[in-house]
Amino acid sequence: MDARHTHPHTSSSTTDDLATQLRSRGMRVTAQREQVLAAVRRLGHATPDQICETVSGVDVATIYRTLELFEQLGLVRHAHLGHGAPSYRPAEDEHSHVVCHQCGRVINVDPAVVDALESRLHDDFGFTLDRSHLTVFGTCRQCGPEQKAAAAR
Ligand SMILES: [Zn+2]
Ligand SMILES: [Zn+2]
Ligand SMILES: [Zn+2]
Repeated sequence: MDARHTHPHTSSSTTDDLATQLRSRGMRVTAQREQVLAAVRRLGHATPDQICETVSGVDVATIYRTLELFEQLGLVRHAHLGHGAPSYRPAEDEHSHVVCHQCGRVINVDPAVVDALESRLHDDFGFTLDRSHLTVFGTCRQCGPEQKAAAAR
């Protein structure tokens, strides 16, 4: 994504988590799987293609399958931050996204921001909102009408 968008990650127990999760399901811990998980934690938000660029000798199809596996294991989660491929991030990184459709800026927001929406959807429709999957598109402060008016002055 971009440099303005940062995640405060802790990455100490990465390999242990992965090993435990995989072994408990009878799956092998491979160097590829370790590299893919490490890439997700290092990059913060990353599409399978972006992850592929940093992991040598693994094709994109394998990256997709590995990410799906990790998501099932609860190690990563994804969101849609644009019209392209989904972006993956570490599962413990709990937040919703606000994306500017003019400049592409991604803002991580506290999931509590959508509390009111969540309770309305639940009360009115019996619907359970998946906050970590939620992306709201709109126009950021820099691209907003106030800024445009200021720039024109
Ligand atoms: Zn999705
Ligand atoms: Zn913007
Ligand atoms: Zn994020």
